[in-house]
Amino acid sequence: MEELLLNKKHDEARQGEAYAPFAEDANLYTRRFYIESYGCQMNFADSEIVASILSEEGYGATRNVGEADLILLNTCSIREKAEQTVRKRLTEFRKLKKAKPSTLVGVLGCMAERLKSKFLEEEKLVDLVVGPDAYRTLPNLITEAEGGQKGVNVLLSRDETYADISPVRLNSNGITAFVSIMRGCNNMCSFCVVPFTRGRERSRDAASILQECQELFDAGYKEVTLLGQNVDSYHYVAETTSRPVTFANLLEMVALISSDLRVRFSTSHPKDITDDVLHTMAKYENICKYIHLPLQSGASRVLQMMNRNYSREWYAAKVDRIREIMPDCGISSDIIAGFCTETEEEHKETVSMMESAKYDMSYMFFYSERPGTLAQRRYKDDIPEDVKKRRLAEIVETQNKLSQESNKRDLGKSFKVLIEGNSKKSDAAWMGRSSQNKVIVFEKGTRDLKPGDYVNVRVNDCTQATLIGEIV
Ligand code: SAM
Ligand code: SF4
Repeated sequence: MEELLLNKKHDEARQGEAYAPFAEDANLYTRRFYIESYGCQMNFADSEIVASILSEEGYGATRNVGEADLILLNTCSIREKAEQTVRKRLTEFRKLKKAKPSTLVGVLGCMAERLKSKFLEEEKLVDLVVGPDAYRTLPNLITEAEGGQKGVNVLLSRDETYADISPVRLNSNGITAFVSIMRGCNNMCSFCVVPFTRGRERSRDAASILQECQELFDAGYKEVTLLGQNVDSYHYVAETTSRPVTFANLLEMVALISSDLRVRFSTSHPKDITDDVLHTMAKYENICKYIHLPLQSGASRVLQMMNRNYSREWYAAKVDRIREIMPDCGISSDIIAGFCTETEEEHKETVSMMESAKYDMSYMFFYSERPGTLAQRRYKDDIPEDVKKRRLAEIVETQNKLSQESNKRDLGKSFKVLIEGNSKKSDAAWMGRSSQNKVIVFEKGTRDLKPGDYVNVRVNDCTQATLIGEIV
C-alpha cells in the first residue's frame, strides 16, 4: 500500500530487475556482470550507461548472479523502504561472495554517497562504491578492488552528462527507450534527497541527444522518453553559438527526426512548464499528449513548506492552461501524504485538488523523512504513521476512482496505438499505449501487425488500469 505504481515511470514490477544479456551481441566475454536497478527511470537509464562502460572492458551481462564476476546494485535513496531493500540484497550477496571470494560486489547510484563509510567500513558489505557522476572511473575502481583495495568514488560533478556514451539497451523491447537529457536538480524541495545524491543540475549537449534519438529511430525504435528531474529547466548553450536551446526547442528538434517517432518526457515541474512547451506539444502530433505534473500537496501552506514554489491556485491554473491548449492531454501526478504539520483540512485539500485535476494516474507515497534534507533539518516529522497511512489510503482510493472514471470517458473513442508487444495475459492480443500513455490491450485478429506498428483501436471496455479495445 505504501506506493501505487502503475506505469513505467517508477515501475514496481521493475524494481530490482536484473538486466539480460544484450540482444544480438556477437562479443565473446571473458567476464560477466550482474546489475540490479532500483528507483526511478533515471537509474534504469544510468544502468545502461554502466553496461556500456563495462562492455568496453570485456564484461558481458548475465541474469544469473551465481556466474557473475561483478555484482552491482544501482540504488535509490528517495524513501527509506528503497534503502532497506538494497541492504537486504547486499546481505544475500555477501553469502554468495563467501562461496566465491573473487566476486566483486558494488553499490552504485544514490545510496553511494550517503552510506559509503557504513557499507565499506562498518558493515564490510561491498568492494566498490560508485556515485552517479563517477561511472567513467568504474574500470579503474574495479582494478583497485581486484588488488584488494576498496574502490570508492562518490564525487559529484558540475558537468558530467555522459553525453558521448552510447547506452547499451538492456532488456529492451526494441520499441521504446529512455534518453537522459539532464542530470541532477537545483530545486531543493524540502522533502527530497535528490539534490544531495545526484548533485547540481546540468543539461546535456543537445546535438548528442539528437544523435542518440536518431540512432534509436534508425535501429527501429519508435518512442523516446526524454528524462530529467525537471525537464522544463533544460537549457543548453553550444560553444559554437550563443543561442540557448530551451526544452521547447529540444522537444521540437526531436519531434522533427520523424513523424513516426513518438516523443515523451518526464518530469515537468508545475512552476517551470511554459506555454512554449505546451504549444510545441500541440503543434506536433508525434509529441505525446501526456504530462506528468507532480502536485505533492493541494494545500498552499504545505507547498510552501515543501519549497515547491507554487500555490494551489497556480497549480490549478496550470492544469486549466494545459486543457485549454490540449483538451485531450493526459495528466498524472505524484502525491505525498502526511508531510510535516499537515492538518486534516490540508489533506482534504489534496484530495479535492486531485478531483478537480482529474488525474488519469498518480504515484502516491507517504512522507518518509530523509537524512540531510531541508525538511529533516527544519521540521518535525510529526504525523503519526497510522495517520499517514490512513491519509494515503484515502488518496489511493480517490485516484482509483479517478482512473476508473478517466478510462470510462474513453469508451467508444478510438486511439492511435503504438504496439509494444504481446499482452501479458495472452499471446493472441497486443499491448500498446495511446498518446495519453494509457495501456490498451486488443485482439490481434487477422491483421499482419508487429511491435513498433501504429494501429487505430476503438475502446470497448476497461478496467481501472487498462483499456480494452478492437482494431478499427
Ligand atoms: N523531480 C521529480 C519532481 O519534482 O516531481 C520527481 C522526483 S522523485 C524521484 C519522485 C517522487 O518521489 C516525488 O515527486 C515525490 O512525490 C516522491 N518523494 C520524494 N521524496 C520523498 C520523501 N521524502 N517521502 C515520500 N515521497 C517522496
Ligand atoms: Fe526532488 Fe524537487 Fe528536484 Fe524533483 S524537483 S528531484 S522533488 S528536489
